[in-house]
Amino acid sequence: MAKYVYTFGNGKAEGKADMKNLLGGKGANLAEMNLIGVPVPPGFTITTEVCTIYNEQGKDAAVAAIKPEVEKAVALVEELTGTKFGDKTNPCLVSVRSGARVSMPGMMDTVLNLGLNDLAVEGISLKSGNERFAWDSYRRFVQMYGDVVLGMKPESKEDIDPFEAIMESLKEENGIELDTDFSTDDLKKLVVQFKEAVLKVTGKSFPDDPWEQLWGAVCAVFDSWMNDRAIYYRKINGIPAEWGTAVNVQAMVFGNMGETSATGVAFSRDAGTGEDIFNGEYLINAQGEDVVAGIRTPQQITLEGSKRWAELAGVDEDLRKSHFPSLEETMPKIYAELNSVQEKLEDHYKDMQDLEFTIQDGKLWLLQTRNGKRTGAAMVKIAVDMLEQGIIDKKTALLRIEPNKLDELLHPVFDLEAMKRAVVLAKGLPASPGAATGQIVFFADEADKFKSSVLVRIETSPEDLEGMNIARGILTARGGMTSHAAVVARGMGKCCVSGAGTVRIDYRARTMTVAGKVLQEGDWISLNGSTGEVCEGKVDTKNPDIGGDFAKIMDLADEFTRMSVRTNADTPHDAQVARGFGAKGIGLCRTEHMFFEGERIKAMREMILAETIEEREKSLAKLLPYQRSDFEGIFEAMAGYGVTVRLLDPPLHEFVPHNKSAQEELANDMGITMDAILSKIEDLAEFNPMLGHRGCRLGITYPEITAMQARAIIEAALNLKAKGIDARPEIMIPLVGTIAELKNQATVIRDTAEEVFSEKGDRIDFLLGTMIEIPRAALTADLIAEEADFFSFGTNDLTQMTFGYSRDDAGKFLPIYLDKGILKNDPFQVLDQTGVGQLVKMGVEKGRSNKPKLKVGICGEHGGEPSSVMFCDSVGLDYVSCSPYRVPIARVAAALANLTKS
Ligand code: ADP
Ligand code: MG
Ligand code: MG
Repeated sequence: MAKYVYTFGNGKAEGKADMKNLLGGKGANLAEMNLIGVPVPPGFTITTEVCTIYNEQGKDAAVAAIKPEVEKAVALVEELTGTKFGDKTNPCLVSVRSGARVSMPGMMDTVLNLGLNDLAVEGISLKSGNERFAWDSYRRFVQMYGDVVLGMKPESKEDIDPFEAIMESLKEENGIELDTDFSTDDLKKLVVQFKEAVLKVTGKSFPDDPWEQLWGAVCAVFDSWMNDRAIYYRKINGIPAEWGTAVNVQAMVFGNMGETSATGVAFSRDAGTGEDIFNGEYLINAQGEDVVAGIRTPQQITLEGSKRWAELAGVDEDLRKSHFPSLEETMPKIYAELNSVQEKLEDHYKDMQDLEFTIQDGKLWLLQTRNGKRTGAAMVKIAVDMLEQGIIDKKTALLRIEPNKLDELLHPVFDLEAMKRAVVLAKGLPASPGAATGQIVFFADEADKFKSSVLVRIETSPEDLEGMNIARGILTARGGMTSHAAVVARGMGKCCVSGAGTVRIDYRARTMTVAGKVLQEGDWISLNGSTGEVCEGKVDTKNPDIGGDFAKIMDLADEFTRMSVRTNADTPHDAQVARGFGAKGIGLCRTEHMFFEGERIKAMREMILAETIEEREKSLAKLLPYQRSDFEGIFEAMAGYGVTVRLLDPPLHEFVPHNKSAQEELANDMGITMDAILSKIEDLAEFNPMLGHRGCRLGITYPEITAMQARAIIEAALNLKAKGIDARPEIMIPLVGTIAELKNQATVIRDTAEEVFSEKGDRIDFLLGTMIEIPRAALTADLIAEEADFFSFGTNDLTQMTFGYSRDDAGKFLPIYLDKGILKNDPFQVLDQTGVGQLVKMGVEKGRSNKPKLKVGICGEHGGEPSSVMFCDSVGLDYVSCSPYRVPIARVAAALANLTKS
């Protein structure tokens, strides 16, 4: 019989760390912590397989499948804790927690204190000798269970939680302000009123039977796997729905039993910067999510952290010591124990740990540990530090790098000079580094109101996820470094300033008041997530520094890679940027972009509109020097590396003027009538230009264009050679579908080259190849290889033609296809390995069957997308080519591809 429930407790566990698929991350690590001697309250995990049963066969089938095992497991927890479910003198209380393979906001919130009812509350009161504590726990439980399990949490953002409303009115009645001012009798009253509210809203009385409570909560966890927030999170993170979530049921420990109790979260290293320093936050006399909820200002765990915090927050040493002391100061013994636990956990998992702990009456308990989420910068620093500290080896260090996350390090930060002039409105906590500038929005679901928005909230919650993802940055008025906003933003690599206490937010009026100024929705602000500064208006940004640890990771990548990485660049500047990022050559230089600037477009238009060869040659002669000097610039910027120049590709219609004044100007310049211009433009119009007169079809109709381009390339290379610069041109013919097309163009190019060589009395080597971007080219790649020194897969067109989706029109239906799950990814972003990938694979195999040394690369958008880069490695490409800012990402992806190949 299948085993669906895994118990843990007292240094024993049925599960272990590597069982994450079955037990979820939280469950697997709770088990593992038991096994390595870390104190963890006993409990059990219901496996992810049960979630699948629940979703496929329904609730009854799932409950029936696990009932006997759950009953046995509860009995074990009772035995280990010496308590009994629902008991009047010694009740067993548990938490019910969701836990998927990967940590996932949007899942069900944890229910604490489950098992409480009118009898059990007496038992807790007796046991703790603290009646108020018992009733406060009961009050919290009814509220949490009502909100989370019975679905009473308000749907709309303006509505207020029914339980909060009841508390507010009781506070008013009693003339008190804080939750902590409630008397025991008040709390008793609240429990009664809460239960009445449950009956009124749900039509059912609050379940008093602990077993009924437990099953309700377990099923609610399974239900939450399919809620909108969880589905959205899975979508943006590519997590399959089939994984399911596990459920953890665990004996309660109480951080709210008085001044010798506390709760907190900690990181074994800094998740923002990567610095190797133990850090975290705690609250005395608090429970569960009080620290992350941003309700009270949490205190720092270490003395060092506390001092740093005080400096940032502008708190002087006396005030810090008296009001915000560190755990190291308030509970030195527990602190020492916690410190050794974090060291033990980091040593054990060999990665930065994010842990949750609770201190109950002077005893430390760990409630969770996991590999901590981190910013891109921290990811790089921690990997390099752990490598240098001898904790992990080179391969592991590289495997710790998520290529896409490097993006954060490559993007602009605020210009220091601009920052000096900026008006700082407020200072919050540097919750997630980076720079963001945008227009204020106050509601997450309105984050797309402006092109760049900054989400401003009192605090965020899991419902805000989608909006947080859209916004450029996040500012919260409340909450610490481990608040929801901070943790989620770091995970997303999004700039975030949290806990900017001087910011007053009025959701109704849609304003924020700070430093005596009232800012409206739509006003610009800028956030510095690295310093916590909130500035007025737009602040200029500047490019980041890519030395240090980043460079070390890049060197590591080169050590383990097989493919090389080139860039797509059309200007010397882009080529230089890419070279700075480590590009080894240009995989695609599009010449058409060179025709638009200034005077060139005129000559280009004359050329296009020319009636005779003579006229055309005349305008081509005007274009030649422009092209030659562009190529000189690019070849020089990439000296020593190959530069693949693609000959003219787009339909000519794209170059002619489409407005009247430009048409008139052109008519004047050329000395012909407007009518003649208009009729020529009409001639060039096509029904389907993407499948029309473009690519090599142009060069075949007008060989003089090809000849001019070839001449410009060869002359440029020879000119550089004369200056001692190593130019390595690779001439690429676009849109070839038959070998005859390639032969035709190759002849023009070779003849032109010979002409130039004899004129100059010098030669250079150059390569001549083609793009493989028409399915027929892939299908006949063996034939085409005969004429080609290299292939470059143009996967943008190849995707377009293989799917039959016009790239320019796909925007109308692709989003729907993605929504309905007809496509898993946008095939123009993520290479369709099953379809288009077959053509790539076939193209490589056929090409090399005829010419084993054929050089093969890819130059579509896919060349910088990690999963596509992995695929390119697997089919044996020599290089990938991508836009300059993707080069580091592609370098790491290429190395990972090679490393993970079995
Ligand atoms: P999340 O996945 O959102 O972190 P958790 O299941 O970890 O949710 O629980 C939320 C909070 O409740 C955490 O602070 C955790 O430490 C606390 N908690 C969970 N179970 C217990 C328990 N058995 N005793 C005390 N606190 C608990
Ligand atoms: Mg939670
Ligand atoms: Mg947790």
